[in-house]
Amino acid sequence: MTPHEQVIDLHTHSSMSDGTQTPTELVAAAVAAGIDVLAITDHDTVGGWAEAERAARAAGLTLVKGVEISCHYDYSSVHLLGYLIDPADSALATELGRARESRATRLERMVERMTSDGIPISYEQVLAQVRPGATPGRPHIADALIEAGVIQHRDEAFADWLSERSPYYVGHYAVDLARAVRIVRAAGGVPVIAHPFTRTRCAGIPDSFIEQLAAAGLGGLEAYHRDHGPAEVARAERLAAEYDLLLTGSSDYHGDGKRNRLAENTTRREVLDAIIEQSSGATPVVRP
Ligand code: AMP
Ligand code: FE
Ligand code: FE
Ligand code: ZN
Repeated sequence: MTPHEQVIDLHTHSSMSDGTQTPTELVAAAVAAGIDVLAITDHDTVGGWAEAERAARAAGLTLVKGVEISCHYDYSSVHLLGYLIDPADSALATELGRARESRATRLERMVERMTSDGIPISYEQVLAQVRPGATPGRPHIADALIEAGVIQHRDEAFADWLSERSPYYVGHYAVDLARAVRIVRAAGGVPVIAHPFTRTRCAGIPDSFIEQLAAAGLGGLEAYHRDHGPAEVARAERLAAEYDLLLTGSSDYHGDGKRNRLAENTTRREVLDAIIEQSSGATPVVRP
């Protein structure tokens, strides 16, 4: 009899950022999808951890606590996953707080630009889409447009109005990528670049910079992700072999907010074990 291969999904969002399900609903959806180990990785917040932990314990699911940190490399936005970080670390907490504050004022400015161009939307309508304490993002503008009946799915808003090339686009504060790698390590966590070679990005991260990040403490690359085609996966595999990095795979599930389905990409057990091994233990994995 072959032993049951564990299903491990290390990148998902709840309504503490731009996912559409509460942490409790996310855990239930993960169980229903046959997942054994789930990571909750909301944008710039650990605010969903406590609720996810309660739900995971009740459901018998193993939970890896994480975060997806908004970073910048040059002028492009890069997301860094930080697994099993100590949330009390002050440098980390400061950076997450700065990103969240900047995200709120930036959304208001985007909405101002949209309304002055005649798009029927108000900042109040957008705020109504953000759960108290959650990290606000462009998807919440899309949700307000859906609620108002202007569009049917977030995709439609991201195709033009909300894209980085849109005249309505306003950026927000994001920490330097190399600094974020060091901060995650100093906070006892394991830094993994989320979808590093996403094709929609303006400028990519060059191989030489991945080498520098590895020297700074980068733990891995999220190779297996729907934003990567065969060329991007091959590149991640080559870089991982060269610089001794882990390779993860994840869904980047956002509930109904994105087409990504839970466990559509997964991480190998040995890779999860290495992540746990590398972490300081300040934030242990929640085991049922
Ligand atoms: P922001 O965090 O405000 O920069 O918005 C970026 C977020 O929008 C990403 O984390 C994605 O989850 C989401 N997003 C990007 N493109 C799309 C899309 N086409 N459909 C739905 N959500 C998207
Ligand atoms: Fe997101
Ligand atoms: Fe991301
Ligand atoms: Zn994500």
